[in-house]
Amino acid sequence: MNETNTQYGGRPSLPMQGVPQPKRDEVLGLPRVHISTHPVMVHKMTALRDKNTQPPEFYRLVKEIGMLLAYEATANLTLEPTDVETPLERMTGQRLAGGIGVTPILRAGLGMAESFREVIPDAQIWHLGLRRDENTLQAMEYYNQLPHKVDLQVCYAVDPMLATGGSAIDAINILKLRGIPLLSYVGIIAAPYGLLKLSQTHPDIDIYVAALDESLNDRGYIMPGLGDAGDRQFGTF
Ligand code: URA
Repeated sequence: MNETNTQYGGRPSLPMQGVPQPKRDEVLGLPRVHISTHPVMVHKMTALRDKNTQPPEFYRLVKEIGMLLAYEATANLTLEPTDVETPLERMTGQRLAGGIGVTPILRAGLGMAESFREVIPDAQIWHLGLRRDENTLQAMEYYNQLPHKVDLQVCYAVDPMLATGGSAIDAINILKLRGIPLLSYVGIIAAPYGLLKLSQTHPDIDIYVAALDESLNDRGYIMPGLGDAGDRQFGTF
């Protein structure tokens, strides 16, 4: 975190100061929101949050947690029949119908995109650069590698931290313009504020997270959270 970040003549930038936030209990029952309770996930999350976990280990944990989330988020995908020949005989098997897209929101979403590629090697990766302005917390697009030709059954927007919800909402808006039949958001930690905003703005998507935390601090960081997910993955402190 950058303690010297200021707005208008040296005043500290505290964009969430005084902003009302929902409590954790108030967002627990939101429709289409999936919060993992798997013990292995909970165990890995504790190691991820630990301030002593260094970037190589942190990145490895993001990838592992991302793989568990990818497994959960792909549970309802559509299959189609396909013939396969085993060493003994022919049979009708099944394969995923249509392409799978993953949109990592740069740069913090890159580790989770790798997780999805481990689980679904054929997945297309559609990079999207959204930077949040530290003063206003508004998301700004600075990079877009979304292809023109779209043949996907689903696209997953991935970003570890669902804080104010601004980037997630913008990413889903951008993906909706591509006419993909099914969209989901997959994150590691959500704050009640961002989760409610995303769910209310896009009630037609599924949201998968590994943990739901307590609140945002005045600067928009998730509490207790894990700090800056991008810096901790890439060692840029
Ligand atoms: N982004 C982060 O990396 N961490 C937070 O706590 C909030 C947004």
